[in-house]
Amino acid sequence: MNPEENLCVQILELTKRHGDTLAVDRLSLEVKENEFFSILGPSGSGKTTTLRLIAGLLQPDHGDILVNGQSMSGLPPNQRPVNTVFQDYALFPHLTVWNNIAFGLRMQGVASIDIATRVGDVLDMVKLPGKADRLPSELSGGEQQRVALARALVNRPAVILLDEPLGALDQQLRQAMQRELKVIQAQVGVTFICVTHHQSEALLLSDRIAVMNEGRVMQIGTPEELYAQPQSVFVAKFVGQSNVLEGEVVAGDDRFSVFQSPGIKPLHISRMSQEMVGARAMMILRPEHTALSRESQCDDIENCLEVLIEQVFYLGEEMQYAINVGPQISWTVRGDPQHDRATRFSPGEKAFVHWKPEHGMIFPQ
Ligand code: ADP
Ligand code: MG
Repeated sequence: MNPEENLCVQILELTKRHGDTLAVDRLSLEVKENEFFSILGPSGSGKTTTLRLIAGLLQPDHGDILVNGQSMSGLPPNQRPVNTVFQDYALFPHLTVWNNIAFGLRMQGVASIDIATRVGDVLDMVKLPGKADRLPSELSGGEQQRVALARALVNRPAVILLDEPLGALDQQLRQAMQRELKVIQAQVGVTFICVTHHQSEALLLSDRIAVMNEGRVMQIGTPEELYAQPQSVFVAKFVGQSNVLEGEVVAGDDRFSVFQSPGIKPLHISRMSQEMVGARAMMILRPEHTALSRESQCDDIENCLEVLIEQVFYLGEEMQYAINVGPQISWTVRGDPQHDRATRFSPGEKAFVHWKPEHGMIFPQ
C-alpha cells in the first residue's frame, strides 16, 4: 500500500473468541480515507464480530484498532469516531424520523439550532425531505434504511460501519439502494466499512474488498483483482462463479503445462510455475471463458472436451447449461443468448466445450 495515502482505519492482529469459537483470528487490514471497503465472507466467518469490535461493542482478546492513527483500545462506543448502521436498522419505533436522527445530537448537547441544520442537511442527502414527521412504521423498508443511514451520517463520524445494510430489502429495491449508497458515500466523503455475504453486492459497491473465512482474511484487493487473480480456491469460488476440476500437473514446458484429471483428456494451461509439475492441483474456470459448440473445435492449443448437456436454463439475458464433463463432474457454462429455440442445445445432446489455456486458473491442493 502506498504510505502517502491517508489511512483511516488500521486493524492490527485482531483476535476475538466467543467461548470455544475463534470468531476473529489475527485479522489485520487497512482502510483508506474515503474508501468504500467491504468485508465479504460466508455466514459465520466473523464479519459481524469484526464490525462490533471496531464499534467498541465488543472488546478484543488481542490486537488493536486505530482510527485516524489513534488507538480505540479502552474507548467506549460513544467516544469512537464511528457509527453503525445495523442490519435491522434499530430505529426507535416511538420517535419520528426527525427525532430518530436528532436523538444522538441531543444526547451530546448540541445546540437546537445546529441540530435543526444538521438534521435538515442529512434528510436532503438521503432524499427523505417531507418524511420528517413520520414514524418508522409509516415508512417503506428502503426509507427506514435511509433513516438509519441519516442517523449515522448526522454525527459526522470518520467511519460508518454497515452490517448487511441491504439484507432486508427485496431484489429490486436492493439494486436501487446499492447505487444510492455509493452515491451518498461519494457525496459525503466518509469512509464506509460494509459487511456482506453477497459477492455481487460487494463487487458493485466497493473500492476494495477483504474476503474473510473462518475468522481470517483470505485476500484483500479491488473487485477486479479478486475476480481475475484469486490467490486461493476459496476466493476463486466465493467471488464469481467457477467450474472446478481436480487433478495433477503432469508435464510442463515454457509455454504450457499439462493438467491431467482422472477420466478426462490432458488439458493445456498457461501462466503456471514449473514447481507445480508433479503436484496435485485444482483447475478453476470462469463460465464466461468457455464456449459451447456442436462441432469439435479442438486444435493443438485450445482445450476442447466432448460433453453431455444435462440441463438447460433460460435466464432471459442469457442461456445457462449444466454440462457433464467427466465422471461426476458437472459444470455450468453460458450459452449464446442469440440461440433461439430451434438452435439452442437440448438436455441429452452431445456438445463440445472449449477454452483458451490462459483462462484455466490453477491452485495447489
Ligand atoms: P458473520 O457475521 O460473518 O456471520 P459472526 O461474527 O456473527 O459471523 O460469527 C462468527 C462466529 O462466532 C460464528 O461461528 C458464530 O456462531 C460465533 N458467534 C458470534 N457471536 C457469538 C456469541 N455472542 N456467542 C457465541 N458465539 C458467537
Ligand atoms: Mg453477520
